[in-house]
Amino acid sequence: MSHDDGPRMFQDQLAEKVRPFIDLVDDMRSIGIDKELPLPTIVVVGDQSSGKSSVLETLSGVALPRGTGIVTRCPLLLQLCNDRTVKWEAVISYGGKFNEFDDPSEVVRYVEQAQNALAGKGVGICEDLITLKITSSTVCDLSLIDLPGITRVAVKGQPDDIGAQIKNLISKFIKNKRTIILVVVPCNVDIATTEALKMAQEVDPEGTRTLAILTKPDLIDPGAEKNVLEIVHNKVIILNMGYVIVKCRGQKQIDENMSITHAIEEELEFFRNHEHFRSLLHEEKATTKCLANKLSNALVKHIKKSLPKMSKKIKEQLGEVKHLLSQIESGPPLEPAEKRKYLIQVITDFNDQITQLSKGDIIVEENLFELMRKEFTEWMECLKNAKSHYHEVVQQVVDEYDQKHRGSELPGFTNYRVFQHVVQKLVAELKNPAMMTLQKIRDMVQKQFNHLSRESFKNYPYLHQVSKKKIETIQENQSTIVKERIVEQFQMEMQVYTQDEIFNKHIPKEGETAAGSDKDTRSKYPGLLKAYYEIVVQRLADQVPMLIRYFILKQSAKIVCSEMLDLLHRDDTDNILQEDSEIGQYRAKLLAQADRLILANDKISSL
Ligand code: GDP
Ligand code: MG
Repeated sequence: MSHDDGPRMFQDQLAEKVRPFIDLVDDMRSIGIDKELPLPTIVVVGDQSSGKSSVLETLSGVALPRGTGIVTRCPLLLQLCNDRTVKWEAVISYGGKFNEFDDPSEVVRYVEQAQNALAGKGVGICEDLITLKITSSTVCDLSLIDLPGITRVAVKGQPDDIGAQIKNLISKFIKNKRTIILVVVPCNVDIATTEALKMAQEVDPEGTRTLAILTKPDLIDPGAEKNVLEIVHNKVIILNMGYVIVKCRGQKQIDENMSITHAIEEELEFFRNHEHFRSLLHEEKATTKCLANKLSNALVKHIKKSLPKMSKKIKEQLGEVKHLLSQIESGPPLEPAEKRKYLIQVITDFNDQITQLSKGDIIVEENLFELMRKEFTEWMECLKNAKSHYHEVVQQVVDEYDQKHRGSELPGFTNYRVFQHVVQKLVAELKNPAMMTLQKIRDMVQKQFNHLSRESFKNYPYLHQVSKKKIETIQENQSTIVKERIVEQFQMEMQVYTQDEIFNKHIPKEGETAAGSDKDTRSKYPGLLKAYYEIVVQRLADQVPMLIRYFILKQSAKIVCSEMLDLLHRDDTDNILQEDSEIGQYRAKLLAQADRLILANDKISSL
């Protein structure tokens, strides 16, 4: 390529070969996978006022905020896209906000506004990235990051460690093995001792990704040209990518509003007429155009090298996203008839679970039947424990009765009522433990029903709410029924009744009774009362658990199922299947991510 090509021609030629790669890079960044996937970018580093923004400005044709002191206070990603059909368009985005504009003279204002928003007004710095994407027929395809300039002393209003902060920030960007470091150094300083160059050498000792740009050749001390030439010829600090010398607009030319196009022409004139640097034009080591060309080539080379790795990373990520998608349910179909079928399926599945649970065919959290058995065993224990108390009381009553009535009546006389009363009183004491057993079992069952509801309807909060409410109401009703039955049972127990045949089986055989004459039936009372109590215990030991199991588990499972099926008669399927918005959003996010990854992968394979 001849150096006399105009700027337009240079860009046209480049656009073709660089464009697809730059697009890819920008795509990756915009889909947010550059966090896992470091992408080649060009980072501009240098001392304050070394000319970084000036270089960027000439490369981009965009006037950036410039001046003395700290002007660049946040990393600025400058995405340049060549598009011959577009005059000039820009989008600036930061912290979730974005603005579009089409007046190049607005750039400064927008960048300053963004910096103030991120880093506050004043002289502080911030690590958050501002992205400025410029599409125009007059830019070449490059993505560059402008960083705050290195400074040694803090000025008023800056934290004392501002120098360290900036160096930290720069390190973060240049450490990345896939970034190309553009070190900007003015010709009129001691190039070899430049901090930026040192930092670059630390992370890239071979200089394979460091390109040095020497600025301000017009301000060089007469006589120092030779030293500069030695540097540019890679004889002092050896960088694999080498050096380029450029001349940008000086403060005076800026003040005079010299256009960038004009400045580029002037730059070329400057080198053509320069006694020492003229030769550099032919060596392709001078002018901004040459710099742009080098950069684009370097970028393409860099990206090409990382394509296989990128492709692998993308495939890995895609696999991961697909796995995550497979873990969350696919969600209801959109078509109404299908959606109804889906609802039927969801409810049927839930009903199956409830039914199986009620039969002891599945285990939810803990084995429900085992839990119930434990509770019923406790009930049995409670009945047995009450027995000894009963025996004591009975003995006491018999003794008292003996005391009072000895001798005043004939043997064999019985006061049935006294003993009936004792039985009634003691049996009635068992009602509370029975109620407590009911309450405990009800809690267990309700908890497990709710658990199934939560699991079955985890994506459908409305459905879960409805079923939870139903479960609660049904359990409440069922336990009211059981309570009534228990109350009834205890009222019946007040009759003190059993079939003669059963009672006879329980009466102790002769000789087992307490000592005493056959005629004195009173001595037999304790034995008879104990026998009756055994019958009561047997009756209640089974009756209470059977009532609870039947009403609280079996029947309530049936009612829950039938009430859930009632939902199918409603015509607001959409409402019933309202998804948890988080799940829906998460799924949508994953689907979009998968699409973008597939697209990125297609792009890579087509390059
Ligand atoms: P930054 O702080 O590194 O971004 O530096 P700037 O790009 O803001 O430049 C600092 C000053 O140097 C500005 O006044 C520029 O006009 C001036 N400058 C930059 N490049 C050149 C150049 O090649 N020649 C001259 N004479 N001045 C330049
Ligand atoms: Mg700057």
